[in-house]
Amino acid sequence: MNRAEAIEALLPQTQCTRCGYPGCRPYAEAIAAGSAEINQCPPGGAAVIGRLAALLGRAPLPLNPVHGTEGPTLLAQIDEQACIGCAKCLPPCPVDAIIGARKHVHTVVAELCTGCELCIAPCPVDCITLIARPPLPPPPEPAVNRLRYTAHTERLERRARERAALLEARKRLASTES
Ligand code: SF4
Ligand code: SF4
Ligand code: SF4
Repeated sequence: MNRAEAIEALLPQTQCTRCGYPGCRPYAEAIAAGSAEINQCPPGGAAVIGRLAALLGRAPLPLNPVHGTEGPTLLAQIDEQACIGCAKCLPPCPVDAIIGARKHVHTVVAELCTGCELCIAPCPVDCITLIARPPLPPPPEPAVNRLRYTAHTERLERRARERAALLEARKRLASTES
């Protein structure tokens, strides 16, 4: 792993561009080349600055406010009543967290959204907002767990039976050929 790769591995990968570069990789390359400081990534905040400083043997710096401030992770939310289905929010999303076809309501897959904000500006009707990311959803109900466990064990048993039958067939074939 070269220096830029080692730096990139410490960055949050939201590709939000707030560091002033078109993504985490170009920012990592700029740090490695000495043309960018280690304190330009608001999503990473003090934690990432500390890790970069340790990697590069430098003193940590405070986050440069020119690039923004550190805050809670956000989640994009689309007002489905207002969405006109123009699909302009799809291309800017770096992690394909928005789903929807042209002329249909779009929605954000919460599990995938990094809160990078890149979908906000392209929306012509301002129906995307950022909210504080809620805590993880509660685990599935016991009945759902049970159904999933039953399906899981049935699949394992079926595969074991299929493997045993295949082995038996191969043995029979080998004995007829010898
Ligand atoms: S600000 Fe941080 S997370 Fe955003 S693109 Fe730059 S390095 Fe990546
Ligand atoms: S849905 Fe919006 S905020 Fe979330 S990752 Fe995509 S572009 Fe970023
Ligand atoms: S840009 Fe706005 S109006 Fe267009 S599809 Fe996305 S959320 Fe809906």
